[in-house]
Amino acid sequence: MSDPSRTHRLPATITGFNVRAVRVPMSEPHRTASGSVTESPLVLTDIVTSEGVVGHSITFTYTAIALKPTADLISSLLLSIQGEPLAPADIFDRFASRFRLLGTKGLLGMAIAGIDMALWDALARIHQTSIVRLVGSAPKPVLAYGAVGYDGVAGSARVAEQWAKRGFKGVKIKIGYPAADEDLAVVRAVRTATGGELAIMVDYNQSLTPPTAIERLRKLDDEGLTWIEEPVLAHDYSGHATVAQAIRTPIQCGENWWGPQDMRQAIEARASDYVMPDVMKIGGVTGWLRATALAEAHSIPVSNHLWPELSAQLMCATPTAHYLEYADWWNPIVAEPLQVANGMASVDGAIGGGVDWNEAAVARLAA
Ligand SMILES: [Mg+2]
Repeated sequence: MSDPSRTHRLPATITGFNVRAVRVPMSEPHRTASGSVTESPLVLTDIVTSEGVVGHSITFTYTAIALKPTADLISSLLLSIQGEPLAPADIFDRFASRFRLLGTKGLLGMAIAGIDMALWDALARIHQTSIVRLVGSAPKPVLAYGAVGYDGVAGSARVAEQWAKRGFKGVKIKIGYPAADEDLAVVRAVRTATGGELAIMVDYNQSLTPPTAIERLRKLDDEGLTWIEEPVLAHDYSGHATVAQAIRTPIQCGENWWGPQDMRQAIEARASDYVMPDVMKIGGVTGWLRATALAEAHSIPVSNHLWPELSAQLMCATPTAHYLEYADWWNPIVAEPLQVANGMASVDGAIGGGVDWNEAAVARLAA
């Protein structure tokens, strides 16, 4: 009798793909100090493998203007890897070396990440498991927080109260109002509305300069905030470091960093006390694993940005995991959106990266 654990299965190959674009309207516009989000333009990538299994991913282009070019890039890249073995990290590295001269930030980086996420999804599905188990970890409850927009004192308090009623243990408020006292008033109103029990994070969305940030953040330094996010430009590492040194409240940054190299440079510059990579901009699952390994080696707490289903899994595999950003923006096109109970997200029973399409909605929202 041959031992089945010693049989070697031929690796699956990439045999086809389907790339679609959708525009998912927000149930309510999400306002920030740097503009309003009213819809999510998304590229949905399906990669077909020789096993018949299909891997899925979501690429978020922020603006509908970038939707078609991103979808075209993904299709062209996928055409170039037809017939190749399903080895996501190797494909990621090959793209990086092939596009060294062009560079892999911006739309090309998003397209490469979209492919990477779909390849990992397919690989996990072929093994009839989740990505978190595929990388050697197990599902566990993940502490989540909800989002409050740039909605003024009364509006922010109302939304925060709704999150608290749903059992969430934290909320993140968009601030950066014209006057520092307004920021303070919003924070205090949210604290009162949530009964003083919830973790409160605030997000400036890159709207301040370092000197102004120091002046303004000092007024928030005694408010017991869990973190202050992106006070200055995301890639101003030295500016962020200056702010982080002057302020006692932890500084959070990372959703706009491109790939593990940006993470490395930010860590070297001591730009931020905490980090929150975006699974797309950081380079898909491959980029996430490499970037968060750097964070772990430096004992830096890791949170995420958007992609709730996939990020919740990746947080389970991140040794310094901190807070999951819960967002329901893309729920309309997801067959079974991430479940959060009592403030904890659960990825139990997920397959692949946890996302299958609600095909009826995808058809209705086609761009
Ligand atoms: Mg943010």
